[in-house]
Amino acid sequence: MTLSGRQLVDAIWDVVIVGAGPAGAATAITLARFGQRVLLVEERASPSFKLGESLPPTAVGLVRHFLGDLESPEQNLPGLFKTAGNISLWTNDQAEVTDFFFTLTGFGLCVERLAFDAALRSSAMQAGASVFKGVRFESCSRITAPPFNWQVNLSSETGNTQHRARYLVDCSGRRAAVARTLAVQLDHDNDRLFAYAQWFSCAQDDDDRYTRIEAAPQGWWYSNRLPGSKCADSRRLVVLHSDKDLPEARLAARQSGFDQLLGSSIHIGPLLQTKGYRPCGEIRGAPANSQRLGQFCGDAWMAVGDAAQAYDPLSSQGIDKALRTGSHAGHMIHYALTDCPQGAEGLGMRSAYVQQYNEQQHQLWQTYLTQRNHYYRSQPRWPNQPFWQRRR
Ligand SMILES: Cc1cc2nc3c(=O)[nH]c(=O)nc-3n(C[C@H](O)[C@H](O)[C@H](O)COP(=O)(O)OP(=O)(O)OC[C@H]3O[C@@H](n4cnc5c(N)ncnc54)[C@H](O)[C@@H]3O)c2cc1C
Repeated sequence: MTLSGRQLVDAIWDVVIVGAGPAGAATAITLARFGQRVLLVEERASPSFKLGESLPPTAVGLVRHFLGDLESPEQNLPGLFKTAGNISLWTNDQAEVTDFFFTLTGFGLCVERLAFDAALRSSAMQAGASVFKGVRFESCSRITAPPFNWQVNLSSETGNTQHRARYLVDCSGRRAAVARTLAVQLDHDNDRLFAYAQWFSCAQDDDDRYTRIEAAPQGWWYSNRLPGSKCADSRRLVVLHSDKDLPEARLAARQSGFDQLLGSSIHIGPLLQTKGYRPCGEIRGAPANSQRLGQFCGDAWMAVGDAAQAYDPLSSQGIDKALRTGSHAGHMIHYALTDCPQGAEGLGMRSAYVQQYNEQQHQLWQTYLTQRNHYYRSQPRWPNQPFWQRRR
């Protein structure tokens, strides 16, 4: 939906949410189901690609919560299949299988992000949220016009608009557009992890249901088959994660260098060759470093999903975290708004609900760091390679 004249006049909201990825959609669905007037804005009118596909079994319940029964034929969810587990070559060059069969759900999920995000946005609209696509958050300023605490300035192809809101939520992903406008610091601890992604296709059937992970001297590889292809070909995503300042990373940014590095992999390169996969499209780069805001929430604002804290993709937790913290944020914001009908301060750290969200974010970050460090340190090979030295 884009801005129309009618909506410009009607531009007052309980909550404005910036960014309609999984975190923004989950927060919007939760708040709209409580009856809050929610505006969800997304700057990209039609995104062309998104990275991030594997969901662990723990995320299945959340996906059902937001999108409905995955087994139901009328649900007809595009771009999604059940995964069986992970095959990783991590501590040595022997493949180790982690099977999801023994988990509570018995499977994980592989999602095609464009279709998955679109389904979540539809669910937000069904719940009653207004979703504006192709509309960018530009800035915000505090106002004292009870019950409103914010004036939010948005732009689109058709011009600039001002909206009043009681509460503002930053779900703009790694960019943390709202928090940065509010001068909140972004900490990344000098982590320069960067992802170099290449799509592959082949004419053969590929029914592989495992996510493949392989440690390499210059970083680590990740690959899974992709769901939801419109053509008959099978498709697969292959990603190399390395530090952006390393020579191998510069090599990976070019097709010939990417092919060369992939050719020296033990598992993923041969897997592609056996199936006759060919690269399609160009190599895409995306930041994959760990980062967090110095402050997760404040007076009448909150950051959710990657905007609050973004993880190394090794964790495979980004989408799960976005949905989970979106649900938690939605509940806490609703309770805070209900308890405190007016004023920004009562919607800040004085609110027990906001404090609870803040504590959850701190705990999540500590748990994540412990797990990430443990996982990297458990990989004993290539002690002289900068990528691994930096992580020990
Ligand atoms: C290489 C790589 C691989 C990954 N693999 C996995 C994986 O296998 N499994 C997994 O769970 N996670 C994975 N992730 C992480 C996952 O992609 C993210 O954690 C997830 O997308 C976070 O969701 P989000 O809604 O917080 O942010 P995003 O999905 O980034 O959504 C933010 C949205 O905000 C919009 N936006 C930004 N600025 C503005 C603005 N000013 N105005 C309006 N809109 C704005 C953006 O266009 C975007 O749509 C991976 C990440 C990377 C980099």
